[in-house]
Amino acid sequence: MMDGHSTQRELFASRPRWEEDDARQGTIATVVLPEGVDKPLDYLVPETLAATVEPGRRVRVPLGRGNRMRLAYCVAVRTADLPPTPLKSVAGVEDDRPLLSARMLELTEWMAERWMARRGEVLEAVLPAGVRARRRGRVDPLLVATGNTPARGPTPAQAAVLAAASEPLTAAVLAARAGASRAVVARLVKLGLLAPVGSVERPVGGGPRPAIVHDKPTALSPAQAAALDAIRGPLRAGRHETIVLFGVTGSGKTEVYLQAVEETVAHGRQAVVLVPEISLTPQTCDRFRARFGEVAVLHSHLTPAERHAQWREIAAGGVNVVVGARSAIFAPAPRLGLIVIDEEHESSFKQATAPRYHARDVAEWTARRAGVPLVLGSATPALETFARCLAGDWRMCRLPGRVGGSHLPAVITVDLRDRGARARGAISPRLAAGIRWALGAGGQVMLLLNRRGFATHVQCRACGHTMTCPQCALALTLHQPGARGVCHGCGLVTRLPSECPDCAAPGLVQRGTGTQRLEEQVRGAFPDAAVARMDTDTMRSRGSHERTLDAFRDRRIDILVGTQMIAKGLDFPSVMLVGVVNADAALHLADFRAAERTCQLVTQVSGRSGRGPLGGRVVVQTSTPDHPAIRAAAAHDYEAFVRSELPVREALLYPPFGSVVRVVVRSLDGRAAEDWAAHVADRLRREAAATGAAAVRVLGPAPCPIERLRDRFRWHVQVHGPDGPALRSLVRHATADLKTPDSVAWIIDVDPVDML
Ligand code: ADP
Ligand code: ZN
Repeated sequence: MMDGHSTQRELFASRPRWEEDDARQGTIATVVLPEGVDKPLDYLVPETLAATVEPGRRVRVPLGRGNRMRLAYCVAVRTADLPPTPLKSVAGVEDDRPLLSARMLELTEWMAERWMARRGEVLEAVLPAGVRARRRGRVDPLLVATGNTPARGPTPAQAAVLAAASEPLTAAVLAARAGASRAVVARLVKLGLLAPVGSVERPVGGGPRPAIVHDKPTALSPAQAAALDAIRGPLRAGRHETIVLFGVTGSGKTEVYLQAVEETVAHGRQAVVLVPEISLTPQTCDRFRARFGEVAVLHSHLTPAERHAQWREIAAGGVNVVVGARSAIFAPAPRLGLIVIDEEHESSFKQATAPRYHARDVAEWTARRAGVPLVLGSATPALETFARCLAGDWRMCRLPGRVGGSHLPAVITVDLRDRGARARGAISPRLAAGIRWALGAGGQVMLLLNRRGFATHVQCRACGHTMTCPQCALALTLHQPGARGVCHGCGLVTRLPSECPDCAAPGLVQRGTGTQRLEEQVRGAFPDAAVARMDTDTMRSRGSHERTLDAFRDRRIDILVGTQMIAKGLDFPSVMLVGVVNADAALHLADFRAAERTCQLVTQVSGRSGRGPLGGRVVVQTSTPDHPAIRAAAAHDYEAFVRSELPVREALLYPPFGSVVRVVVRSLDGRAAEDWAAHVADRLRREAAATGAAAVRVLGPAPCPIERLRDRFRWHVQVHGPDGPALRSLVRHATADLKTPDSVAWIIDVDPVDML
């Protein structure tokens, strides 16, 4: 048999002239536009560009009647018969090398289907802005002096450049400031005296932080050893498997990740470790740095140039360990050997804007394709994850006890329905006694209240009217100082009136306690204790989070009051008491995951107590002590909650027993939003009936739990079905040729984590 090429040439040669004219062959590039046109477009590749047009690079193509030049991603190139209507030609090539590998291109195609996203949107999302912004011949990383001493004295021009490079500058700016040529700058880079900042480790908050040294333990606990073995099997065999470490806080999960990564690196492979949010998990990052030295930490404070430099370094195989939040799953590691997701239940792994992907699913796809193990760890795995283990798809390793002899803290539940419990503000007498006990024993205290501000709402004493945001259907939160009304939906800050806008009665009352008021009450009740508050209001400036945690570690703070920020991944052995001020705060939200989230949050924050030799306690204040989520958290029995919750989800076809597609419609005009949502729901119902998809349920239209946000009225429709792909195809068909009126905007969220 001849190879394909010569066969074709032979055929061509033997064709009569008239036929050749009809079926001319050519090189065709399929391109996807980042925005605008949704469907892939074909362009002819002119001879002159044949060598450079390839999948993964961006090209310039003429679009529409006006033939305006647009940048587009080339996703495929093929040689084929040309269609009867002539194709437009690719006008130019943007990138000097592919930005996306074949695997990444395949991933974006899969993601577009999985989350009903536009392919162009997905392509943009998997590439950091710095990589996309880069144009051919204009690579300009920021350079700084490395501080290395030159082997031989540098020349005066070099010295001038080095002096200017005390702050990160581009090569061009550096050369201009120093009055030197670009060649001098390039020479200094070559000598290792200048380096791109992106590849230099820079701590998150700027300035060095004291490293907490967790020495490598001499021996793993039997549960840790079993978990590590479970990872090693597929790691050594080079096959994919998903291993879930279900281990209580302090059971040594991180140590297992560290040793699995160590083995991966020893085999010459790269490991990608995802954490929920870099700034909230500084200790985890520190431990990876301490163990491996060179770690690429992809955090949100990186400038586009820094991120680009990191990206290049990873792609070149120069970095073995990558730690980052959600989007680090797209790190272009060519020698990928292991993926780890810590705190895999966290909702921040799902992106809230298009493409609305979940990093856990992307990680599974990637690990499967690469034939490498995926490790998911949590003290409170998501129900989706639990179900996959129960179904036998994934392997669960339990780490039921804490390592190093410390015990899980005893939990005391305080029933807030007792008047006595609420007599003196947000801190019940038992919680106060617990705080006194911990402080008296030389311990520290953490108090969780997942509501920021001073008062959660402001109400008229006479008519009961609650002050709401003029732009949103949300109560205004009172913030001090200055008695400002702040909307947590849109961020609007207003002056609160002194009388009711509804009935003009004076005397508005401040109801509900936020972290500000709690802090004030704590200071009043414990005047000798050093108190600090950690929430997004106090943590606005860069590095403030680290400074507060450092102060807490150094015992300059006795009582730390905070929102869920304090619940994550922190390991402070002197914490003897954790107080959950209002465990029900999020329990009654109109979200099917409300119970799951509550159980996870209370369990996670409880795990901060009693890590040291002094032991610890947890006090949980709640109005619903018998709720399965609260009971399970109080008993350190998350699995009991899972057992009670799974049948509820199954009955309602909620994940993990089916897929949900949520359509959210927004409009400045309430009627238009409602009408459009009704129209979409109608289409969906008809499509479901036509396809005989009996198990599919269409719910709505209904106003969203937050009915109005930033002046826009919000309506939603939910579709549930047992089979994800079938459900998505149904929604795709039903919405394919909808002509959206100008007055409304709508989005599709597949398997949403935010139901509000
Ligand atoms: P998790 O990630 O499950 O919360 P960590 O891995 O952070 O648990 O472990 C909790 C603490 O115990 C850390 O300080 C860690 O250094 C220590 N540790 C972990 N494994 C062991 C072990 N086998 N022996 C002694 N100490 C250990
Ligand atoms: Zn608002």
